[in-house]
Amino acid sequence: MKILVDPGHGGSDPGAINRRFGFAEKDFALDLGKKIVEALVEAAPGAEVRMTREEDRFLSLGERVEISKDFASDVFLSVHHNARPEGSVAWPGFEFESFYRRGLALGSAFRLGAALNRAVLAAVEAHGMRARDRGVKEAGFAVLRASGDAILAEYGFITDDEEALFLLQDEHRSLLAVATAEAVVGYSEWNSIGRDET
Ligand SMILES: [Zn+2]
Repeated sequence: MKILVDPGHGGSDPGAINRRFGFAEKDFALDLGKKIVEALVEAAPGAEVRMTREEDRFLSLGERVEISKDFASDVFLSVHHNARPEGSVAWPGFEFESFYRRGLALGSAFRLGAALNRAVLAAVEAHGMRARDRGVKEAGFAVLRASGDAILAEYGFITDDEEALFLLQDEHRSLLAVATAEAVVGYSEWNSIGRDET
């Protein structure tokens, strides 16, 4: 089982920005990505886990896909934080959504996305924060052409002050990482059982 964690953006591409606090998506995504790798190494000792970037540098979407193909990842997880258009009203709580490649049948990538939504939202709620499921959706993002079951996940709205402050705490990013690893492990167990049966 090869898992590739892809922290979104980086280098000259900051991703979304919270102007009030000066937080950039690329920094949160990198730190959360590293925590997800640590959690996966612990939860899935047999898995080979890598990252597309481990520092603050620019990577094109094509390069990310290339890295996944060279590695032959079974799971590709692109880590992002959501952005609301300026002037729109924030929802008071944490919102999560995930995307799989448009046109794909509702197969194992969708199942991985659904497991992620369930695990992350349950962990946030258990921590006492309101949580809302924005769904598992199809999308045409270029990174979803990566090798294996590819998911792009949006871990909360960095543009919303309440969520940005939630994400700022190390403990909260660890909680999101552990929930993510649990979902990936649960999905991979299901997936290997499914493969053995056929
Ligand atoms: Zn992003």
